[in-house]
Amino acid sequence: MDNCIFCMIAEGKVPSRKVYEDDDILAFDDIAPQAPIHTLVIPKKHYSNMSDDVGLVALGTIFGAVPKIAELKGVAQGGYRVIVNNGIDANQTVGHLHVHILGGRKMAQGMVTFDGE
Ligand code: 5GP
Ligand code: ZN
Repeated sequence: MDNCIFCMIAEGKVPSRKVYEDDDILAFDDIAPQAPIHTLVIPKKHYSNMSDDVGLVALGTIFGAVPKIAELKGVAQGGYRVIVNNGIDANQTVGHLHVHILGGRKMAQGMVTFDGE
């Protein structure tokens, strides 16, 4: 997909701090970490988000890799949070499906946050 920053990272056209790679997925550290460990997992194939006909196999490949990537980042023992911002209301800012793995510190309880109200 043209003009997709994560496709460019997957193709090696834009540098990233790679954590893990295989034929189907790439994991790399987030450029603006929100926790001591903040790694993104993406499919190499472009899907805009989870609602983009991803299919069970690809979803299984992406999410199935999360524990291994958490292990590589040293947060498997202490725990970590897994987040997918999916679409407009969730404030997804990069339109290429990605899973956030956040860890390395104790986090606030809960996960649903709203602006205002
Ligand atoms: P979203 O808000 O879409 O769930 O998350 C997008 C994430 O991608 C953000 O946490 C942002 O910091 C990260 N990000 C955006 N552009 C780049 C980039 O060029 N390289 C890396 N490593 N992360 C990026
Ligand atoms: Zn893409």
